[in-house]
Amino acid sequence: MTVTAYTGRFAPSPTGPLHMGSLVAAMASYLDARAHHGHWLVRIEDLDFDRNVAGADHAILQTLQRCGMHWDGDVVWQSQRQPLYEAALQQLGTLVYPCGCSRREIADSRLRLGDSASLVYPGTCRNGLATGRSPRAWRLRVPDGEAAIRHFTDRLLGPLQQDLSAEVGDFVLKRADGFWAYQLAVVVDDGAQNITHIVRGADLTDSTARQLYLQECLALPTPQYLHVPVVNNPGGEKLSKQTGAIAFDRGDNDLLPEALMPAAGFLGLSLPSGILTTEQFWQAATAAWAAQYLGKL
Ligand code: GLU
Repeated sequence: MTVTAYTGRFAPSPTGPLHMGSLVAAMASYLDARAHHGHWLVRIEDLDFDRNVAGADHAILQTLQRCGMHWDGDVVWQSQRQPLYEAALQQLGTLVYPCGCSRREIADSRLRLGDSASLVYPGTCRNGLATGRSPRAWRLRVPDGEAAIRHFTDRLLGPLQQDLSAEVGDFVLKRADGFWAYQLAVVVDDGAQNITHIVRGADLTDSTARQLYLQECLALPTPQYLHVPVVNNPGGEKLSKQTGAIAFDRGDNDLLPEALMPAAGFLGLSLPSGILTTEQFWQAATAAWAAQYLGKL
């Protein structure tokens, strides 16, 4: 069997315990790493101090262990890596500028342009803050015209593209509340941790073009991407703490039938009958993943 240079990761935000939606993302990235005989890292994305829930990080790690998902190396916490994000912001130099707009002002200016549907940043502060305005957030300048289009091929979804100028606008790297934005931190850390393959939920597909552009600006390599379908609640909303997702790990319940099997079913993995242990589960699920997903590259 050939050994490929592969490093993947699961990067949960500690906003609550793992639920079926986050387990599906964790399982997909874990299986892809195992199927490639690669490394699998866990990174706690705890930069939004208003949304962090005390103890959720350790609860997530414990549940991963109870599921039989063993990570390589040490777990990292983004809250302890803030000097890296500051250094990246400095490295971006004049591509970054201070913005004094509130969300309301951005929404209002779109309405004036007759474009109520989108919150594309209209570039108000691109050429300097208006007199009397103070900086709130820090934004990254995106290119204009053709140069704004980013193309990439998702291993599952196929070729995708996004026009950063028309569909996103200059985006935030450091938020008005002083917190580092997800887009910057994720790109800096994926680069620093030499992540080669990103497997995550399809709700993040829309962030990928921004991340490709940031990788270019920071001279970082671009990983391969695979976005798996997200689990919805019966009302059709993405499962999350806000939409009523419940924790499947009650400490002493059997996670094989209650979590692992249903998550594998959601990913469409066909498993043989007679699986009795988590070890048997991961062996069979890895083989099923390899058969179903590895041909997609
Ligand atoms: N922290 C993000 C989340 O929990 C995932 C980031 C990523 O996989 O790029 O939704």
